[in-house]
Amino acid sequence: MTAPNLEQIIADHAARYDEDLTDWLACSCGEWRIDSEQLDYSGDADRQADRAHAAHVVAAIRDSGNTVIALPKPHGRWAEGPEWVQGANLADRSGWVTWTAEGAGMVMLQRVEPGELTPADAADLGAALIAAAQHAGDTQ
Ligand SMILES: [Zn+2]
Repeated sequence: MTAPNLEQIIADHAARYDEDLTDWLACSCGEWRIDSEQLDYSGDADRQADRAHAAHVVAAIRDSGNTVIALPKPHGRWAEGPEWVQGANLADRSGWVTWTAEGAGMVMLQRVEPGELTPADAADLGAALIAAAQHAGDTQ
């Protein structure tokens, strides 16, 4: 797996404030800026600007073909290792199961039939596979 160079992408989109820190916030890429007139000063305007810039940086990461996902915690344990189960339903076990044994250095996938994954199912399975792969690599 190719590790994305997120550090470079984030460095290319550093926040730049005006001298007084009051008039505008811009991005070092030159393609994004928010002016003080665009902010709602009834709330926390600085946080609004920072959140808007953070959304711009996240969009830049996505536009680069990368993504950041939250890896799921194992839903339980089976035999000698953690397992991830579709829908986190350990009792049902009708969907996919991803499993790895401590120290085995391998990941097992069960119950995935051709054409049965929705996009959301595929994303969940992908996150579970990455979590299992990291666990397998860490315990090898
Ligand atoms: Zn930028």
